[in-house]
Amino acid sequence: MHRSIEYCASVSLDAIFPRRCVLCGAIVGSVPWSPAPLCFSCEHTLECIREPRCERCGRQLISEQGRCVECREEQAVLSRIVPLFEFRGRAARLIHAYKMGERASLAHYFAYKIAHMEGALCGHGPDDFSVVPVPPRPEKVRSGKLDQVGCLAEALARFGFRHSRPLVRLPGGGQQKLLDRAGRLKNASASYARVSSDPIHGKVVLLDDVCTTGATLEACAKLLIQAGADLLGAIVLAAD
Ligand SMILES: [Zn+2]
Ligand SMILES: [Zn+2]
Repeated sequence: MHRSIEYCASVSLDAIFPRRCVLCGAIVGSVPWSPAPLCFSCEHTLECIREPRCERCGRQLISEQGRCVECREEQAVLSRIVPLFEFRGRAARLIHAYKMGERASLAHYFAYKIAHMEGALCGHGPDDFSVVPVPPRPEKVRSGKLDQVGCLAEALARFGFRHSRPLVRLPGGGQQKLLDRAGRLKNASASYARVSSDPIHGKVVLLDDVCTTGATLEACAKLLIQAGADLLGAIVLAAD
């Protein structure tokens, strides 16, 4: 069963402390990302990724130009990943609170940030593409936990983004965390499938929460491209 943001909010901390900032506990007044529980001062302290950034994975470049060292070697079909934050510090705390379903209404904040990312998708606006969320584990959905990526895709509707769910995650499969890079790629490509064999028309953008090696995104990207989609790239909450 799919759980909506409203359902998850009603059973989480959102129901008890709806107006308390998730990071500092202060009462959140009027914010553009309302009703997400995040105050203006904390929002300013989140770990954004500074320029220059790798043109493929979006991570900060130290002394390189164009692409980071890892991405230069990369033979991936996914040519562009755009992270909102670095997965550390306060940004990581915020994303963790969202992922664990404690603060489902944070989806409204992340949707606001995605909608206001300047030039992230090379001039493509919400009318140009459909957002495809990386699907959750079926075990997770059955246990009634928050599908945090699906809920984020729904929250984006407020800013004019369409979404579709042409992919599914298959039951079982190992934990990605325990595998090396080659193992992760192999495990990820056996973990996802298309819902139907119908072709996918038009431009799409993948959506996920945290990108570590990119193996999950790459597996989903291959399925979308095989189905005929014009994949522009992926947007993720954070790069680990
Ligand atoms: Zn705060
Ligand atoms: Zn890179």
